[in-house]
Amino acid sequence: MYHLKYDFLRLYLLQIVITIIILSISPLVLTSPSSIIAIRIWPASSYTRVTLESNIALKYHQFTLSSPERIVIDLKNIQLNNILRNIDKQISLHDPYLKLIRVGKFDQKIIRLVFQVKTHVNLQIFTITPISNFIHRLVIDFYPAINVYLNDDPLLRLLEDYNKGKLNNTLIIKSKKISKIKKNRTIIIMIDPGHGGEDPGAIGKYKTLEKDIVLKIAWILKILINHEPKMKVYMTRNEDIFIPLQVRVAKARKMQADLFISIHADAFDNRKAKGSSIFALSIKGATSNTARYLAQTQNKSDVIGGVSKSGDKYLDHTMFDLIQTATINDSLKFGTEVLKQIGNINRLHKNIVDQAGFAVLKAPDIPSILIETAFISNVEEEKKLKTAKFQKQIAESIFNGIKSYFNNGGKVTLR
Ligand SMILES: [Zn+2]
Repeated sequence: MYHLKYDFLRLYLLQIVITIIILSISPLVLTSPSSIIAIRIWPASSYTRVTLESNIALKYHQFTLSSPERIVIDLKNIQLNNILRNIDKQISLHDPYLKLIRVGKFDQKIIRLVFQVKTHVNLQIFTITPISNFIHRLVIDFYPAINVYLNDDPLLRLLEDYNKGKLNNTLIIKSKKISKIKKNRTIIIMIDPGHGGEDPGAIGKYKTLEKDIVLKIAWILKILINHEPKMKVYMTRNEDIFIPLQVRVAKARKMQADLFISIHADAFDNRKAKGSSIFALSIKGATSNTARYLAQTQNKSDVIGGVSKSGDKYLDHTMFDLIQTATINDSLKFGTEVLKQIGNINRLHKNIVDQAGFAVLKAPDIPSILIETAFISNVEEEKKLKTAKFQKQIAESIFNGIKSYFNNGGKVTLR
């Protein structure tokens, strides 16, 4: 009797010890589960992007099913968690391409995502290795298969060419490139609100996103230019969408823009940095440390926003340099006019137009500037950037700068 009770107790204790051992070693034995940590859906008129962010590089297999058209993406060795289960809730009613997404366990190793689409689509699917604040990303872009080009906006076709690796920004050299403004010619302005979609741009201390502020400024500027007779305006993006830098430049060239204006509100590692500044392209290296730093962060935009492939396709030869140099001189003149105007409403970070190798300013034949409206990293300026008043003041200053540039003999491209 005694013996039995003792044995029972011993067995009981042994069980506890074994349980403790199993519990303590299990995290080591079972490697940390691979899972999706975030899902973001960016619906836009040109394309809808779905981003799956995960703690490991995702392995996937993709195929389509017909009637109704569905895109199937199988994810290998991934956990079915609540983030995945709730993916369907992220679809907007107004999404032009996505109707619904179903998710389920196909077998022990495969999670199957089924995207039902509203229209016939073309798919771009690719992975991005960790960069900036992002971990591993799997990007699924839904483009319309039958091209519905919006008005005279060539964006969709340019994105299509870009995805096929066919986008060509190389210069077609005309015999006589630049001339004085011709009377009665409509001046075409391309506004480029920086960043968008997966690429938020700089983020203020109070979570203000650069991509949102610059789009608001761009809209105000667009209205101002639209009211001007003999001026026409286009934007590289009208909504919260990611557009590669090269496509922005290509769009300006396609629309035969006379000026390209990239609007930003960036951050510097020193929160004290403040004031507005303007940049033009440099082909010989940056003119200041700030310019170099900002150009580097700007040029990262493509990898942050997510492109399947990238590469600088600009030709680098003498003729190109000659034209580019003439264009840069015009960019500097234009930048100086805008800087003068902005100087009336905000303190200037620097009194002259700075230069660095900004990829978005590389249209060889269009005077292009990048405006750092203010530093979103500076708490005082972040507050200011959020106000409708400051946004309007900046837009008006740019608008006045455009007018004074042309009034002071600014040239337009002969076409
Ligand atoms: Zn920026």
